[in-house]
Amino acid sequence: MRPEALFTYFADIESLPGVGKRNRQAFERLAGGRLVDMIFHIPSSAIDRRYHPKVMEAAAGSIATIDIEVITHKPAPNKRAPYKVICQDETGFLTLVFFHARADWLRKQLPEGERRVISGRLEHFQDQVQITHPDYMVAPDNVDELPLMEPIYPMTAGLSAKVFRKALGGALDNIPDLPEWHDDSLMGRENWPAFKPSLLSLHRPENADVITPESLPRRRLAYDELLATQLATAIVRERTRRKKGRSLKGNGNIRRQILAALPYALTGDQETALGEIISDLEGDRSMLRLMQGDVGSGKTIVALLAMAAAVEAGAQAAILAPTEILARQHLESIAPLAEGAGLRVALLTGRNKGKPRQALLDTLKAGEFDILIGTHAIIQDDVEFKDLGFAVIDEQHRFGVQQRLTLSSKAVNGIDVLGMTATPIPRTLTLTLYGDMDVSRIQEKPPGRQPIDTRVISNERLMDVLGGVERAVKSGAQVYWVCPLVEESEMLDLAAAEDRYKALQKVFGDQVGLVHGKMKGVDKDAVMAKFQSGEISILVATTVIEVGVNVPEATIMVIEHAERFGLAQLHQLRGRVGRGSGKSTCLLVRAEHVGEVARSRLKIMRESEDGFLIAEEDLRLRGSGEILGTRQSGMPDFKLVDFAAHGDLIEMARDDARLIVSKDMELMSERGKALRHLLYLFERDEGIRLMQSG
Ligand code: ADP
Ligand code: MG
Repeated sequence: MRPEALFTYFADIESLPGVGKRNRQAFERLAGGRLVDMIFHIPSSAIDRRYHPKVMEAAAGSIATIDIEVITHKPAPNKRAPYKVICQDETGFLTLVFFHARADWLRKQLPEGERRVISGRLEHFQDQVQITHPDYMVAPDNVDELPLMEPIYPMTAGLSAKVFRKALGGALDNIPDLPEWHDDSLMGRENWPAFKPSLLSLHRPENADVITPESLPRRRLAYDELLATQLATAIVRERTRRKKGRSLKGNGNIRRQILAALPYALTGDQETALGEIISDLEGDRSMLRLMQGDVGSGKTIVALLAMAAAVEAGAQAAILAPTEILARQHLESIAPLAEGAGLRVALLTGRNKGKPRQALLDTLKAGEFDILIGTHAIIQDDVEFKDLGFAVIDEQHRFGVQQRLTLSSKAVNGIDVLGMTATPIPRTLTLTLYGDMDVSRIQEKPPGRQPIDTRVISNERLMDVLGGVERAVKSGAQVYWVCPLVEESEMLDLAAAEDRYKALQKVFGDQVGLVHGKMKGVDKDAVMAKFQSGEISILVATTVIEVGVNVPEATIMVIEHAERFGLAQLHQLRGRVGRGSGKSTCLLVRAEHVGEVARSRLKIMRESEDGFLIAEEDLRLRGSGEILGTRQSGMPDFKLVDFAAHGDLIEMARDDARLIVSKDMELMSERGKALRHLLYLFERDEGIRLMQSG
């Protein structure tokens, strides 16, 4: 149960002033539907309105707040001319300028003969001192409404900053203080303010510096968020480690047979990763390891050899994949090698139903399969193994901790878990995302890969791209065509993809296929299968082209509006080609006008194929946020951390979390109880739920 002190934090925003049915959607789009979402929506900058000059001494170009008396209104003489209101103080005249003004509204706001406090950017125009569209015009009695330091928030269409600020003010007034969860010594050393005061100083800044990532309140809040994440991870990690481990020592016979059948030798990185995994399997602690390696770096064979080792030791192994397509691909690449070495392999997905499914489950329970490959279907309750000892989780970030634990619970004698991911992540982020796991990296590519020729092309030259694709297809090439990612809307993504699909159909007829996220699994598979078999040459797709999908014959990748993608995402998309022996090309089509950062980012793509390097550079260039691309990335949501600025806090949080867990695993001490608030506040409470489920 969530601690009572947090009830207000999680209250619905409709309890706030100015929020109702009508505008709640905009609030939800911007931040979320609860008070906690509002207070963690922090300002990106602040406007200083403390400059309070007389009209004649005010510096041109400054943001000024000025006391004036309204003298007279001068309505616009024609539609294009502005409406003017002449005001004055004892030093001179100030003209307020309004375009497309509503006269009746202005007369009400600025009655002739009354005093007002005006704030906005002041300009000198011809001989006049003027402010165009003042930010604030308040009566002296209401001067409280004019923030002297005004925080500026990222906004969304359909919501005004004023309405947002008012609601936020209500939230800040209502939330209670929380018990301090940090160590006294840490607080003393860092000189951090407490939690609620930190929030207040960001939302009601006394100076603009407070808003920067380096400010003490901001660092404190970032640390809160990081510690919550690390603590949740550490709790799960500790629980896994405390579970009885199992030593899986094989004699190497099956591995030798598989290796002998391979037409190639393992790369150095594959050998190293395999060595690390085998030593974990043999050790008597439970293994929790992540194997990171680019698409095509050869993780699958390493996983197979590790599974073979587990089977040699008498256990069963399972491999969990996020989608049907990937599970089937694993079956195709694993089964021949595994069966050649005498291993019995089965596939279980959502498509297994009724009696045949039951028969499969019975054989699995009887121990007649050594390796089970499957989707979420394999973590269902009624799936039982005779003796599961080793689980591989492919595209680990697509699964939650809970799913990992459910799979683990099917093992009666302890289990070793190997996660795999093709998403390259900078080291600091690896710690944040996978702090509970040991990591093996495969950086070296198998030999003989041809580099992918990557080019950046402006959208103006789309016709040339099309011409090139047409020639390539005529000579037998296969092409992926990825459509623009439209912000915030899957429906728009889809519309864009459908338009492109129709346009390409006009040129290529039924040689074009379309896959997108809204399609049913079977329909998607059908189109993919056609592409795989060469029946269609061009596959138009939204970003749903599954990570890991393998069509070695595809040699061209076109990505429209490449500037809208995260670099990691571009890298993964590009990884769909360059898988066979043919020479591959990746065309990054960008918008005509793109900024400096976008240019540099695309340049990195052109110059490098090293996913880890690309990820580090992306982090450096963009600071934070969308490192892993969007959606689907499995990246927990960070609202207060700036990964470029707060890197030093990550390791601190990890060490802190491990210490906490070693001393007070159940979070029962005074500090432990305070830390429970932290976990709930940042919704990293899966660890607590685990404690309760025993
Ligand atoms: P990943 O799962 O990391 O994306 P895969 O395991 O699918 O990569 O490997 C991609 C391809 O490379 C497969 O066709 C595989 O047979 C081949 N491969 C793997 N290791 C090597 C190696 N050491 N030398 C040559 N080819 C390899
Ligand atoms: Mg793979």
